[in-house]
Order: sequence, then C-alpha cells, then structure tokens
Amino acid sequence: MSNTTSQPVRVRFAPSPTGLLHIGGMRSALFNWLWARHNGGVFVLRLEDTDRTRLVEGAAEQIYASHDALGITPDEGPVQGGAYGPYVQSERLDLYREHADRLLAGGALYRCWCTPERLDALRQTAQKAGQAFKYDRHCLQPGNQGDPAAPHVLRFMIPDAPATVGWDDAVRGHLEVASRELDDFVALKADGFPTYHLANVIDDHLMAISHVMRADEWLPSTPKHLLLFAAFAWEPPIYAHLPAVLGPTGNKKLSKRDGAKSVTEYLEEGYLPEALRSFLASLGWNDGSTQEVYTTPELITNFTLDRVQKSPAKFDQERLMWLNGVMMRQYAPSELLPRLEGWWPPAAANAPASYRLAVLGLVQERLKTLAELPELTDFFFTDPTPPAGLEHADWLPQIAATLESSNFTEADLETRLRALANTLDAKPGQLFGLIRQAITGRTAAPGLFETLHVLGHGVSLRRLQAASTG
Ligand code: GLU
Repeated sequence: MSNTTSQPVRVRFAPSPTGLLHIGGMRSALFNWLWARHNGGVFVLRLEDTDRTRLVEGAAEQIYASHDALGITPDEGPVQGGAYGPYVQSERLDLYREHADRLLAGGALYRCWCTPERLDALRQTAQKAGQAFKYDRHCLQPGNQGDPAAPHVLRFMIPDAPATVGWDDAVRGHLEVASRELDDFVALKADGFPTYHLANVIDDHLMAISHVMRADEWLPSTPKHLLLFAAFAWEPPIYAHLPAVLGPTGNKKLSKRDGAKSVTEYLEEGYLPEALRSFLASLGWNDGSTQEVYTTPELITNFTLDRVQKSPAKFDQERLMWLNGVMMRQYAPSELLPRLEGWWPPAAANAPASYRLAVLGLVQERLKTLAELPELTDFFFTDPTPPAGLEHADWLPQIAATLESSNFTEADLETRLRALANTLDAKPGQLFGLIRQAITGRTAAPGLFETLHVLGHGVSLRRLQAASTG
C-alpha cells in the first residue's frame, strides 16, 4: 500500500463519547483538520458510540463544543450534517447489520454462541500458559453450532493467508503482524451493535476516508481493520499513527495535573485558541526548522505527514504559557483589545475604550494569559488603599506640588521628577519607587511616567493626596 493517494483528501476524527475529551485527543483532531486544510480536503467528525456501556452523558456535546472553541469546526459531522451521514454510529445500525450479513454469507464472519463463562475460562487458561487469548473456534466445530435464532455474536475468521498483515504507515513506516497472532475478534455483538472494528471500517469506507490519522494506541487494531477491508474487497485508507502525548517528564501518560484538561478549560484560563493550535501542533510534529510559534495559516501550509514524529510527545504547560504570551505580544494593542471582553476587572466596565486601550498598551508586554489582566490592571480602575508606613512619606507634598503644574506628558513628568530628585538630593529610583507605591499601591507596575500619564492629572494627584494623609 503506498502513501500517496489520488483520492480527494477526506479525514475524520472519530472519538467515543465515553468521557471528557482532553487536550491529547484534540491534538489528533487538530492534525486531521490541518491535513484536510493543507490539501483543500474535508474534515469529518464521527461519533463512535457503539459501546453502550461506556457512554457518558454530555460527552458528545463537550466534543462538539471543543471543536468550535478551538476553531476547528468540522466540515461534516453530527452537527453540520453532510452527504455521508448520519455521523453518529448508533444511527447507522442497519448499515452495519447489512454489511455483516454480507460477510456472514461469504464466510468471513461466523456465528458464536459461547457463553461469557466459557470465554472467561479460555482466557484464564491462556493467561496461565502465558499466552495471548485467542478464541478456539469452538462454534465452528461440527455439532457445536447453536440456534441461529438464539443470541449470538458474529466473529471475524482470521484467514490463514496472507501469513502476515502489513501496511506502510505514513508515520511509522512499514509495519506487519503475523496473522496467527490475531484473534477471531467479535464484529457484531449479541445486542445487534457492531464492535468498534466493524463500524470503524465500514464507516471509513462509506465516508470515503482517504487517511486515518489516529493515536498510536490504536496500532494493534489496524491489522484487523485491514483484514476487514480485504474481506469486503475494499481499498483501505492510508494509516498514519500519531505519537502518544505524555506528561512533561516523558515517561508517563498525561495526567490531569500535567494538563490533561479540556480545550474549554484552557480557554477559560485565558489561553488564545491560536496559541493552543500552535502548541498542539507541536505535540508530535515539527517542520524541521527551529520555529516555535506558528500562526494557523503557517501551520496549514507547513503541515505534512512525513514530518510527524514517531516518538512520544511531551506536554509542557509552561511552554504553552510562554507561547501564549508570545502570541499575545505579537498583536497590536488595538488588535488584542476586542479579544479582552470579559477579562477586565469589574471596575473597568465604565472606563472608555480609549482608556482601556492605553492601559493595555502598558501591560501587554507582561501578560501571559488573559486571566492575568485584572491582577495587572485593577489599580488603573480602582484607587488603591493608601499604603501605610511609606519610607520618605514626607516627600509626598512636594511631589504633589511638582505634579500640580505638569501637563502630564511622559516627557514633562520625567523632567520635573528628575529635577525634584535633585532638589531633594534623593536617588531617582528611591523617589520614583515612592511615587509608584503611592499611586498604584504596589512596588511593581509598568513604567512610572507612562502610568502617571495614563492615570492623568486628577487621579494621580488624588492618590498622592490620599497617600500623604493616609
Ligand atoms: N473511537 C475510537 C476512539 O475513541 C476511534 C479510533 C480511530 O480513530 O479509529 O478514539
């Protein structure tokens, strides 16, 4: 099987609604979306909900919301619809049944009535012998067949030939498995629902999927899928198994503490979707350069499967925070301003947009997430509690007198305050530190002259006054 296809590119992300879709899963979704966009293709979202015992209420909605939030809305899917729907597997049961009947008639599937107890016993025997479990084909033996009307499953008969099942994985290279290591897996369950294997293969074919890009935990399933494709006499898609996303130390699975949260949680913590996209793209992909921050159009242009790495990716939240800060700094304050709705401290509600823009200009450099905005800016909107016990508080009246006649341009403020430092025989740093504390209530704040300029004459003098009487 070759890695090039003349088919139009159609890719899918096929999550099961069995729990919270976290950022590791979204990495797979993003890679599919990027590959679709890179090729002018189609990105399909398919909900694989055939394991009825593991369904989690609300999980499907969270999956849809995560795609929208990350800005990778599917072209076809349960919400969008499309010509290949329905896109929810539980709504496609008739299709699976029809296809299973076809394989049953051709002998690729066979009926199995074995009880869970019998299968458990077989499993235990295999375990004791240190072997992988393989169904012993009991129900194929003459005389062991049950009643076709009685509950049973349909198993796939692993053929003797070919002796190996192999494929050229677009990421992992050539891979193969000996057929004799494969188990006659269940394709259709007794409740009439297909297993993951059967539904996944039928849908990838019927939805004309050109490339299957999924996490490499699914590697053991791929030989089974290829055999199903062969049994149907269908051309399989190109497989590309994506490296696992591990925690920051690279030796264990990503945990909640390491950042295995949902995309919506990250957005609520003040990350930009474009920063999340650039960060997620780096989990298992690079374009061979040293570039660290990518705009989404750059990702789309540069994303190719041959640059997806084989080795596991490390998820480092600190890097995400750094990257978010870099991306926020790349915007002009006027571009970032509309993105900050809802992030300002409550007291900013009445401030004019021009004032907020000026404040943003002073703190943008230091913002790493949008959530830091209130902490960095609240003193621009609310008078601080006048700080007590200021060193050299006796200078405050002279400072006020000096600023009284300033026109509050940065240059004028600087000239006057430097001259005052001379008159007082004070170190400029000492004087400026005092003013900063008096008017902002803190020791670290943006540059003093810019801060005074933005606060303006009235507010600055009011605060100085409060500090000297406070
Ligand atoms: N339903 C599987 C999952 O939950 C899909 C795996 C695949 O992409 O084939 O990830």
